[in-house]
Amino acid sequence: MQEIIGLSKEELISALCEMGEKSFRAKQIWQWLYVQGVKTFDEMTNLSKDLRAKLSERFILSRPKIVTEQVSSDKTHKWLLEFADGQRIETVFIPEDDRGAVCVSTQVGCAVGCKFCHTGSQKITRNLTAGEIISQFMLVKDVYGEWPSSSQENRQVSNIVVMGMGEPLHNVDNVIKALNIATDQDGLAVSKRRVTLSTSGIVPNIPRIAQETGVKLAISLHAPNNTKRSQIMPINQVHPIEDILQACQEYQKVVTSRYITFEYLMLDGFNDTLQDAQELVALMKKYKIGAKFNLIPFNPWPGCGFKPSSNNHVYAFSRELEKAGFAAPVRTARGQDILAACGQLKSKGSI
Ligand code: SAH
Ligand code: SF4
Repeated sequence: MQEIIGLSKEELISALCEMGEKSFRAKQIWQWLYVQGVKTFDEMTNLSKDLRAKLSERFILSRPKIVTEQVSSDKTHKWLLEFADGQRIETVFIPEDDRGAVCVSTQVGCAVGCKFCHTGSQKITRNLTAGEIISQFMLVKDVYGEWPSSSQENRQVSNIVVMGMGEPLHNVDNVIKALNIATDQDGLAVSKRRVTLSTSGIVPNIPRIAQETGVKLAISLHAPNNTKRSQIMPINQVHPIEDILQACQEYQKVVTSRYITFEYLMLDGFNDTLQDAQELVALMKKYKIGAKFNLIPFNPWPGCGFKPSSNNHVYAFSRELEKAGFAAPVRTARGQDILAACGQLKSKGSI
């Protein structure tokens, strides 16, 4: 038995051909799965009973199990989800007025071990499959009743941010597969402009994201030089800032129309002075990348050694970057009261 969610279109077609079916059946099934959002083969009413029975003998069609869920006072919605082998991850939905982003996880735990990150304090257990990644988005569509087949008018489940638990470029094959399912025009049809992948900078895999997906890229930079970055992100010793920025230059040659977002966590007394901001500006000007910043207020978690920067520092830092011509909004922390904000996710949940 094989999970049907997460197979690429080509894999589905060849599985159907192996079963002696015509390839147009794969297209019909694809639409049931990703346009209608059905959860059983029996709902695929334009297929014969016989074929539906064959499909349920060959494939599993399921969603992750909801273990617990919480809704924050700001409407941020978080689920602790469990997969068939009992492994758990968290998924977060961040609604805004006319859109909303599903923050998906890509691994159980993370091997990168950034010092400020709750997920990183938990060892890596395993990669998620493509099906487990895309089914997080599908589950949120189920919960909000937003499949095209439903009568819901004001659609909010519109964007995907690959910013949950895990380092997506340590699980690059499955992540690429999942994003291609998400953006497939015959299926979920999420626009590539509405998908952002965030990485700590696993340089060798960055070109594949450009070539094989074309989604927006975000880099977790968090420091203006290698000395500071290595102190909080040990991965910087393997892939230093210069290599990451070169990879970003190459990215923009392929995905030409989009800015690269540099995420910058504001850590009190560590990376939040005007001097840090000026160093950052000099770095960006040198590499001439179409860049914007996202200043992230640090979300504390039990046992972490850092404190968030004061608002004064954050806004002064932002002004310094904007003076140099870079957009540098301060990200509003969402869902803090339920530990759903960036860097706060864990697979034991936090309830
Ligand atoms: N592994 C990827 C994506 C997941 S982390 C990456 O590191 O980019 C998503 C974002 O949350 C990253 O920018 C990460 O640096 C940030 N983050 C981690 N811990 C945080 C914390 N405690 N407070 C705020 N943001 C945090
Ligand atoms: Fe992993 Fe990203 Fe957390 Fe670093 S910030 S430990 S890369 S999830």
